[in-house]
Amino acid sequence: MDDMDDKDRTVRTDRERAARRDAAVRAAVDQGLLGPGSPLVGLLDVTGVRESAAALRAAFEAVTAPGTPVLHAFAVKATPLVPVLRLLHEEGLGAEVASPGELALARAAGVPSARTVLDSPAKTPAELREALELGIAVNADSPQELARVDALVGPAIPRSPLGIRVNPQVGGGSIEALSTATATSKFGVGLRDEGAREWVVRAYLDRPWLTRLHAHTGSQGIPLPLMAQGVAQTYALAEEINARVGRRQIDTLDIGGGLPVNFGSEATAPTYAQYARLLGETVPGLFDGRYGLVTEFGRSLLAKHGTVVARVEYTKSAGGRPVAVTHAGVQVATRTVYVPEAWPLRLAAYDAEGRPKTGPEVVQDVAGPACFAGDLLAEGRALAPLEPGDHVAALDTGAYCFAHHYAYNSLPRPGIHGFAPDGSGGIAFATVREPQTVREIVAEAGQAHASALTALRAPERA
Ligand SMILES: *Cc1c(COP(=O)(O)O)cnc(C)c1O
Repeated sequence: MDDMDDKDRTVRTDRERAARRDAAVRAAVDQGLLGPGSPLVGLLDVTGVRESAAALRAAFEAVTAPGTPVLHAFAVKATPLVPVLRLLHEEGLGAEVASPGELALARAAGVPSARTVLDSPAKTPAELREALELGIAVNADSPQELARVDALVGPAIPRSPLGIRVNPQVGGGSIEALSTATATSKFGVGLRDEGAREWVVRAYLDRPWLTRLHAHTGSQGIPLPLMAQGVAQTYALAEEINARVGRRQIDTLDIGGGLPVNFGSEATAPTYAQYARLLGETVPGLFDGRYGLVTEFGRSLLAKHGTVVARVEYTKSAGGRPVAVTHAGVQVATRTVYVPEAWPLRLAAYDAEGRPKTGPEVVQDVAGPACFAGDLLAEGRALAPLEPGDHVAALDTGAYCFAHHYAYNSLPRPGIHGFAPDGSGGIAFATVREPQTVREIVAEAGQAHASALTALRAPERA
């Protein structure tokens, strides 16, 4: 695929996605998903998710030797919703899980064990045992964890493909909390630490069943060339290990996820195709068919396909600045509210009927419903003047956002609805997750144990 075709196609896809989103907001109001009694929803663009999955597959098909096994394991933590995992499974993707909950979600979605990878830094013996019994791929994060795996494997040949996660320590990006390849990152075995590289090589020499090597060098904020450097170092280590062993013991490289998402505009940038081509240039040999590949993309598959839409409840003015008080804040956009400079979100204004709101823009704050002053989706944002009954959409919120509810002020988890064109000019919706009810909030807040604390007292002295 040629650069220009790729670019044209991406531009068209981005434009169509924006149009589908506008149609979905309008239809959500029309069909009563969004209204006074339901002032906050998450909308998920099914067409867009399918397109991103197809773009990921095509990007690697274009650069790998024919017949190279490639498993794209979606990082479940990005959007931990069973229907999403099922959709991606149907699109040919697997699942990367990092907790018993995420593994259970992947299994509930029907993702087969052979297409699941377990990667957490804190796996318990019970989790490791379950994964090995199911034949799920496991990447050991540390020498201590590898010792636990040793004990479980014993003299047998494990069914699970097993590997070690290494940290190439190539450096961090613009967001410290998401930089996994710094010298002191908590993940994997730091390759540049004294003795570490030799320890890793030995670990493979001693264990013929270690057949994979894993690195995930970063997420949002990491420049692509740095990610490619991390993959290059991992590849070089695999080559070194296989040379020392004298056979192709490592047969699969797990290169992690982490493609950054453009939150500044509609454009999908960078693309999977660009990253795959850069990997091919930086790591000649990676795609020549000698290694099977696993990828673990999360954010880049889902972010642009999710939209949080909230009703404007009130508007006011404070210190001369207009403030729109909406129903979307810290409970659905936690990172944005607490670290706004790292996680700015695009906002779009819609009127009470869900039509894009135009008109001369006004600089205003868009606030959430939570009771602390910093609960703002955006500060000083130029938007069409908002009025009560209008709607505000937080765009690109399909990953690490609306499925990552934060229970501040006992605000309910909003319903999430998937949407797709219905074939006759309208939009069809399907429930992905029911909205949480007040009854459920009370039950989850210990209702069944209401007298637990008042009943707990020292016995009266005789
Ligand atoms: C979070 C994570 C991913 C996915 O990262 P994205 O930035 O969402 O693509 C992949 N692999 C591992 C090990 C992770 O922890």
